[in-house]
Amino acid sequence: MEERTYPQPAQFIGGSWREGRSDAVVEVLNPATEQVLALVRCASAEDVDDAILATVEANESWRLATAVDRGRVLRDAAALLRAREQAIARVLCLEQGKPLAEGVREVAMAADVLEWSAEEGRRAYGRIVPSRYRGIRQFVVREPIGPVAAFTPWNLPLLTPAMKIGAALAAGCPVVIKPSEETPAATIALVRALADAGLPPGTLNLLLGDPAPISHHLISHPAIRKVTFTGSTRVGKELAALAGTHAKRIALELGGHAPVLVFDDCDPRRVAEAIAPVKFRNAGQLCVSPTRFFVQDAIYEEFVAALASVAASLPVGDGLDSKTRMGPLANARRVMAVDALVQDALANGAKLACGGRRLGDRGYFYAPTVLSDVPDRARIMSEEPFGPVVPIDRFATMNEVVARANSVPYGLASFAFTRDLARADEVASRLEAGMVGVNSFYIAQAETPFGGVKDSGDGRESGIEGLDGYLVTKFVSQGYL
Ligand code: NAD
Repeated sequence: MEERTYPQPAQFIGGSWREGRSDAVVEVLNPATEQVLALVRCASAEDVDDAILATVEANESWRLATAVDRGRVLRDAAALLRAREQAIARVLCLEQGKPLAEGVREVAMAADVLEWSAEEGRRAYGRIVPSRYRGIRQFVVREPIGPVAAFTPWNLPLLTPAMKIGAALAAGCPVVIKPSEETPAATIALVRALADAGLPPGTLNLLLGDPAPISHHLISHPAIRKVTFTGSTRVGKELAALAGTHAKRIALELGGHAPVLVFDDCDPRRVAEAIAPVKFRNAGQLCVSPTRFFVQDAIYEEFVAALASVAASLPVGDGLDSKTRMGPLANARRVMAVDALVQDALANGAKLACGGRRLGDRGYFYAPTVLSDVPDRARIMSEEPFGPVVPIDRFATMNEVVARANSVPYGLASFAFTRDLARADEVASRLEAGMVGVNSFYIAQAETPFGGVKDSGDGRESGIEGLDGYLVTKFVSQGYL
């Protein structure tokens, strides 16, 4: 698929694809070539109102559809995603930059999420509470919360929307989604799969355009009952404040700054080789990416050398090239932000083990970078790098490393490596994080809860907790006349 065959993005409102009616137009760029893939006409305020109206009209019949029927649509959509895997992976590569193999993996994970949601939707169980009054029966039932506004970013433009849409639809809630205006086509592929699987018109609507006015309009509207956002902590807090003034439930999946604790009972080379593909996945632009490395004194030098050797030999290039293992950063903002963090760390005394520079002058490529002896005062130790940079420092004791790991406002993912069971138990309980991987990177799956604490947000996606976010509790007390 060349640039010219990139699908033309459009709004999806009430079951029809159409151009936005605003005067504003945004460019979608290929981050590997900087070429324009498409021009997208943005949604106007009238388009947003149309999407809300379509959602309201679809609400009653979707909430009353059986969980089995809702599940059938989700399962059929999962099958369509799998059948379209190669084409969607290419779209992900073109608009977001990830290598094709990572695109294929994202499609598989999105399909798994829809399938899990289809199954779990059947298990929105309530309960019967024995009454203290004779002749009274008491039920606790779980019902769909109602229309949902979802906002998703550019780093996983298929998987993140699938997590939100899958759970919402399974629970019986219609959705208006505003994906990133920079990577619209992958989300459109998901919407198309659901529409082709028989989702009734209006049950899922998609808007593209300027995020702030669209989110403000949707969150303020009385018909929207739940807001879900994935993106930066700054924007998440703004949206939470707005949702708060309208007493709306909001789920936030925000930034992370995952600490990696490597204890001296590990083989440093083995850990470095295992962690490198995870670190450089999506060029480090994942909220759960390992980002602050603390390595115990005895194995410190060996770990730095091993990770630098893997990083320096990683093939970086256009994701369409089958040899590529790491693609470009997703946009020019990231190149500037990542380089500024690297330069700041060096100015603060960090040592450059490899990388540390932009690659080429076309496309947003940045070399896989390893920095050692990075002091806590360097910005990269407290600001989310969202890029292919590994800052490493040494530690001596458990107490010291736990304190440093917990010292930032983020609390999304965290990782620890040790063969000592007592250490494993201790770090798992002391790390302030929504997810802890101990000798494991499997922290994001359809059936396990995903989300953070502290400034990393609130609410969980996936797992039984994911469905729960779209349900409200109703108590029914019933007597006999
Ligand atoms: P940004 O905060 O400007 O945008 C992030 C996403 O939020 C984009 O998709 C954008 O469309 C959306 N957005 C922005 N303003 C919005 C608004 N008012 N209402 C609704 N949606 C809005 O940030 P950026 O420059 O793209 O990235 C900056 C940082 O954000 C990154 O360094 C990273 O720390 C974080 N980020 C996190 C995730 C994640 O998965 N949690 C994803 C993308 C970015």
